[in-house]
Parts: sequence; structure tokens; C-alpha cells
Amino acid sequence: MSTATTETKPNNNCLVVSKMSLMGHEQVVFCQDTETGLKAIIAIHDTTLGPALGGTRMWNYANEQDAIQDVLRLSRGMSFKAAISGLELGGGKAVIIGDANTEKTEALMRKFGEYVDSLGGKYITAEDVGMSTKDMEYVRMETKHVTGIPESMGGSGDPSPVTAFGVYMGMKASAKYKWGSDNLDGKTVLVQGIGHVGENLVKHLTEEGANVIINDINETRLAELAEQYGATIVMGDAIYDLDIDIYAPCALGATVNPDTIARLKCEIIAGAANNQLADEDRDGQLCSDKGIVYAPDFLINAGGLINVYSEIKGYDREHAINQTRAIYDTTLEILKKAELEDITTHAAALEIAEQRINDRKNA
Ligand code: NAD
Repeated sequence: MSTATTETKPNNNCLVVSKMSLMGHEQVVFCQDTETGLKAIIAIHDTTLGPALGGTRMWNYANEQDAIQDVLRLSRGMSFKAAISGLELGGGKAVIIGDANTEKTEALMRKFGEYVDSLGGKYITAEDVGMSTKDMEYVRMETKHVTGIPESMGGSGDPSPVTAFGVYMGMKASAKYKWGSDNLDGKTVLVQGIGHVGENLVKHLTEEGANVIINDINETRLAELAEQYGATIVMGDAIYDLDIDIYAPCALGATVNPDTIARLKCEIIAGAANNQLADEDRDGQLCSDKGIVYAPDFLINAGGLINVYSEIKGYDREHAINQTRAIYDTTLEILKKAELEDITTHAAALEIAEQRINDRKNA
């Protein structure tokens, strides 16, 4: 982390690291409160297009370095996701270090809310891994700079169905590009992770007549969804050797790596998980060399962000859905650009996102 400068805000024990040069971050804030046990990091990557929006993740990181790396990487991804989706938002993210099951209290969440508030709206938070709607209500008691609140409180509710719709649009556009038709009827699609997003995706796919294979570590859920949607269950690592048309990673990051790419027989990868490529350049290239169309994750999983953005503007679900539908056209545009310029699809998407940010910077 070259050229980082630090300053300490005396009143709230908040260490502010600015001008981070490593991934181009504007500001990274370390928050520590001994009374509540809060240890959090808020990373603001870029606010050229608007306030930095990104969820708060609570995770039992092995050490602070892992937490810093995670928040820097995730906040950077948020900048590009907002930019490529045409939103007036920057990229940010927060992590709280600790066990979400045992260390989370109302006092801790409210203290975190105070830190968010101290940034004066430069960072807007939302739910992420390890957070519940209830936690966001506590944050909301201390700051108005929080989104993705429940429908009962006038918010936009769970963003996952909209995320799943966007992934479905990105998948169909990839099919159109690869096979000349976006019809998924009869195609075999592997959905890894049947959580909030995965289940909604399975629903869209079965409605269209695709053969859906589901994979998860939760056997009860697998049995329920197999019954409900007539999907086929495949457990464990064997999924990478299946005869499939499309692989949809909807659980974890980094599942697209040299080992899995060598084994995968699919022609398209399109899913919801963040950071699917273990190494953006290397694995984007390996997919391309093998003729696999990789639909960039930060482009096709942006539906949830589009939905919470709509909440900030005055929630209109229909508008959010229509804006998410546009992921289809953007995906096609990016796949064609990658082919034309002989670059990876990830690089093509990144170029468009960075261009939008730079154009605004220079305007
Ligand atoms: P979720 O926690 O509801 O579901 C994740 C599912 O993956 C769970 O069913 C879990 O059991 C399963 N899983 C965990 N480890 C696994 C493994 N090793 N193999 C197979 N399955 C495993 O999460 P979600 O909200 O559905 O999000 C899914 C992914 O999409 C996450 O990576 C998330 O970061 C990303 N994402 C979600 C949204 C959203 O709106 N929820 C938006 C953008 C990106």
C-alpha cells in the first residue's frame, strides 16, 4: 500500500486513511469502539459518479489484513458495477470483523451506524453477508445513509429476485451471442448455490423449459427445490465434470479457475456470485481460449444494486425491473466488443465502466 496518508479524528476513535493508491481508493476508514467491541472498515473506492454505495459484511476474518483486502476488492467492484449499470453512484463497501452469530448486538450495529453517519452521506450502506434486515433497522436509528430497508418500512425489500432477473437476462443475452437464439428451452443449466438469488434463477429457468441441475451444501434445501421445480441434484465437486450448456455460479467467488476451467464442458458461464474469476486476467483469458462465453459478474448481478438505487430515488419496482432488463443489451454489447477488440469479456466490461467514470472526471 504505497502512498497512504493517515489522519486521526479525535472525537470518534476513527482512523482515516486517504489517498490509497493500491486500487485507487479515495478513502478507507478504520472504526474501533472498545465499549461495543466494534471493529469495522469502510472503504470508499470512487465517488465520481455519486455517493459510494455498498453493503456491510460481517465475517470472522482470520486477521485484519484479510478484512482489508476483502473490503478494498469488494468496494472497487461496486464502483464498476454502478458505472456499467448507468447509475449515479460510486463504489463502497464495509466489513465488520467478528462472528455474526455470536458477536453482533444492537449497540454494535448502532455504533457502526454512527460511523456511517460521520461520513455525511459519502458512503451509503446496505445489507450483505452476515447482516439481517433487523441489523439495518439498528443502523437506520443512527443514520439515514442506509438503503435496502424492508418494504414494511417503505423500502425496497429483498433485492435478490431483481438480482436473479438480471442474471437471467445476462444469461439469455450470452445464449443469443453464442447460439444465435436466446431460447433456453431444453438447455442444461447448472445452478451452484440455491440461496436467495439461486432459487429465483431456478424459477425463471424452469419456467422457460431448461433442464436445471442444482448444487448446494444445504441438503434440505436441495431436496425442497428438487421437489418444487423438478430439478436434478448433483452434490460436491462432481459438478465441474458434467455435460452442461451453462454454468451459473450463485454461491461463492473464485470458482472459475484453471482447475475448473479445464474440467468444465459448458459453453457459457453466467451467474450471480461476485468475483467469479479467481484471477481476472488469467481466468478470463482461459475461458476465452476454450470458447466459453463468460458473462462478467459485476455486470449481470447488478439487479440488486439497481433496485436499492431506485429506493434512494423514490422506489418504483417497475422502473427497477426495466432498468435491470437492460442488462440483456449491455451484455450483448460487451460480448461483441470483446470479440471485436480481441480482449476478454471481463476486460471489455471493465473498460466501459472505467470509461464512464473517467469521462465524468474529465467533464
Ligand atoms: P445466499 O447466502 O442466500 O445463498 C448462497 C447459497 O450458496 C446458500 O444456499 C449456501 O448454502 C450455498 N453455498 C455456500 N457454499 C457453497 C458451496 N461450497 N457449494 C455450493 N453451495 C454453497 O446468497 P445470495 O443472496 O443468494 O447470493 C448468492 C451470491 O450472489 C453471493 O455470492 C452474493 O455475494 C452474490 N450476489 C447477491 C446479490 C443479492 O441481491 N442477494 C447481489 C449481487 C451478488
